[in-house]
Amino acid sequence: MTAFPALPPLRDVIARHGLDTRRSLGQHFLLDLNLTDRIARIAGDLAGVSVIEVGPGPGGLTRSLLEAGASRVVAVEKDPRCIGAIAELAAAFPERLEIIEADALEVDARDLAPAPRKIVANLPFNVATPLLLQWLRDARDFAQLTLMFQKEVADRLVAEAHTSAYGRLSIMAQWLCQVRRDFNVDARAFVPPPRVASTVVTLVPRDQPLAPAERPLLETVTAAAFGQRRKMLRRSLRPLGIDPVSADIDPTLRAEDLSVEDFCHLARVLAEHRNQEPG
Ligand code: SAM
Repeated sequence: MTAFPALPPLRDVIARHGLDTRRSLGQHFLLDLNLTDRIARIAGDLAGVSVIEVGPGPGGLTRSLLEAGASRVVAVEKDPRCIGAIAELAAAFPERLEIIEADALEVDARDLAPAPRKIVANLPFNVATPLLLQWLRDARDFAQLTLMFQKEVADRLVAEAHTSAYGRLSIMAQWLCQVRRDFNVDARAFVPPPRVASTVVTLVPRDQPLAPAERPLLETVTAAAFGQRRKMLRRSLRPLGIDPVSADIDPTLRAEDLSVEDFCHLARVLAEHRNQEPG
């Protein structure tokens, strides 16, 4: 069995580095190492894998990832106060933890580590959705993403058709990835507790998207359909100049009645329509 270096309690790390939490940085720390170990286990086999962690904070999840056997962890942290705390961890795990002080929104995660790469993070809620959308642009460059979101975002990611949570985020995520809810986390597990519950979600990028479609056109049809989600498709898709009937879709349905494959079909109809337009 591997012997891990004795590490100080996270509360001591927080006190020594003066990490009083800042809401503007979405700082809600996980101090329960059983919980961070559970997240690391969900990340699967980490041997030979580079793990990118956004927002290590005082380093609870980072410890769990290293102890779970991650060959290499690259931790991207925006708050300079956390860098010293994480540097102590890097010293305890020589050659295995790299620290990047940066805004994760301004970094191309693919440049941080070679494939195979996984992203594992307790994400800052204020930038969680933009970060995910950024990673989904190159989804196949990641083997897996295991991420903590606020529960309402997780509900949207896993939502099925005919539900109120189903929308553009569900479609883009499920088109590109297999998405599963791992477990919900009570707000009291965090220091300080956020106002809402959280959920760990795993996304495994597909080798091929669920159905053929050009991404910008899929985004266009879903934006039009869900932009007026109470309206029938006949009406909501009219500004695009396409008729659902030409895609064999009942025009009296509403956006949330369509599957991901139906939206891909509409995106292909829109592509044809645009190709036929003069000029
Ligand atoms: N991983 C730690 C844990 O589980 O206890 C901290 C998670 S806390 C929810 C989010 C972390 O992301 C904070 O450490 C915060 O400073 C950092 N953060 C916030 N915005 C960021 C950004 N744009 N880029 C990188 N890190 C960011």
